[in-house]
Amino acid sequence: MRVYELARKLKVPTKKLLNILSEWGIEGKTNLSGLTSQEIKEIEEILKERSLEEKPAGKVLPARDPIVTFLGHVDHGKTSLLDAIRNTQVARSEVGGITQKIGASEIYFQGRRIVFIDTPGHEAFTAMRAQGARVTDIAVLVIAADDGVMPQTEEAISHARAANVPILVAINKIDKENANPERVRRQLTKYDLTPEEWGGETICVEVSALKKKGLDELLEMILLQAEIMELTADPDGKLEAVVVESEVHRKKGPCSTLIVKQGTLREGDVIIGGEVYGRVRALINWRGKRLKEAGPSTPVQVLGLSDVALPGQIFTRADSEKVARRMAEETKEKLRSQSMRKREKVTLESIFSSPKKEVKTLNIVFRADTQGSLRAIADVLSNMGDEEVKVEIISQGIGEVKKSDILLASSSRAIVVGFNVEVSPEIRSLASQEKVEIREYQIIYDIIKDIKLALKGMLEPVYTEQLIAKAEVRNTFRITHVGLIAGCYVTQGKVVKGAMVRVVRQGESVGKGEIVSLKRFDRDVNEVSAGLECGIKIEGVDDIRKEDLIEVYEQKRIR
Ligand code: GDP
Repeated sequence: MRVYELARKLKVPTKKLLNILSEWGIEGKTNLSGLTSQEIKEIEEILKERSLEEKPAGKVLPARDPIVTFLGHVDHGKTSLLDAIRNTQVARSEVGGITQKIGASEIYFQGRRIVFIDTPGHEAFTAMRAQGARVTDIAVLVIAADDGVMPQTEEAISHARAANVPILVAINKIDKENANPERVRRQLTKYDLTPEEWGGETICVEVSALKKKGLDELLEMILLQAEIMELTADPDGKLEAVVVESEVHRKKGPCSTLIVKQGTLREGDVIIGGEVYGRVRALINWRGKRLKEAGPSTPVQVLGLSDVALPGQIFTRADSEKVARRMAEETKEKLRSQSMRKREKVTLESIFSSPKKEVKTLNIVFRADTQGSLRAIADVLSNMGDEEVKVEIISQGIGEVKKSDILLASSSRAIVVGFNVEVSPEIRSLASQEKVEIREYQIIYDIIKDIKLALKGMLEPVYTEQLIAKAEVRNTFRITHVGLIAGCYVTQGKVVKGAMVRVVRQGESVGKGEIVSLKRFDRDVNEVSAGLECGIKIEGVDDIRKEDLIEVYEQKRIR
């Protein structure tokens, strides 16, 4: 029998039961197989006596459902585990169907609710904490059974500890042939996370996200941990809701997902958090359902805010929109004057400090798909330098890489880093004209790895060529001061200014160079699509003939 099962049977809080058991020298939280029925009766007696002695002190707050974050090393299965839990639960529940990505989700298990924060990884966790908000109640540390404790597992442990969040271990991928959960347990003892089975305090659950094994037990343990923590919140108290994710939606405008920590958030409420405020136009949960109100531990996407809010930002209720606007403006003004002071200080320092040892700066223009990743990655990047090189994010934003980003990068000798964002062909060609490097990533870990290497000056980009267009040469012209122009008909894809091309004659490459000028009639253009004619000037190629084939390549970075 498990502690919480006994607690339910005896109708007492798990925490209370645990206290008695520990007085008896029984420390295990999960397994009570050693208890005899006589002993259980005795416990029951003691509990009865104590409940007569105890008087409730003050107002008893209702229990609050736990908010959980998955942490751990990259590829150990955080995302898969979360997906597996969600999918099984969604499939089990009657209302099937639409789920949307709002940055957090909630599932029901054994009649209780568990809330999961989507953004895995400790960067996001820390970024949120940097804002002074504690959202996570329980950290599930995911460790792959075939891989064991890795550097990011260690980091995750430190972050959870620093935030004072209890750790529950999920040993994942136990379906794998070379899985070695015992080794993981052994490794954990080194970090003061001795498993319960070995006489320690840490709950470990063996799971497989792939085979959907051990998921129920993991959820049970989360609930058990929550019961031990006795989480409470006052639904009638002062509103406090924390941002976990933000994005700008093309139609809906700024959307932020908030998790209510205290009080109740209702449609029509005026709320304020930092520089952002607004009247709540709609509350939408992760199943896409509109809610009239959201109580403690409920994640909801909030529509109607003035701007995107940073993860970790705490929102409270304001009396009116007028008051909220004034408060937001005051905050904005305060932040502006702070940042001006900061800038002045840097210049002053750089004027007066002796330039003996010059500090090199790696300037970055950064774009990401969501406010969450933006904030998280920006935080990590800005802390990556040392005494000799520093990383400076000179601009950051959500959404695709823009023309202004390239121009800014060009003028400040920065690189552009894109995380899960689009880069259009025009932007690529502008970047190549301006000699600005765009680096694209899908994995946070890769950015960190690359920037680390870049800081050491060791980074060698690896490119591969990808055919993006073909054009036939129909005519050639020689123009004074300009040189040879190929009059072409684009047969496939899109010819892009700035791209590399190869001139092919009878199946053989006869020249290679960059498109330095691209014209439709007399107009300079950035791209020409299939079915259209154009004039192409290729740098460094002076032999192009009628019927040659022009193959246009995009340089694609592979690693
Ligand atoms: P994250 O980086 O921690 O979010 O890891 P992912 O969830 O993206 O998983 C990384 C890889 O491990 C993916 O290829 C998954 O398919 C695989 N994976 C995750 N869980 C399991 C598991 O339980 N068993 C096996 N065999 N593979 C898994």
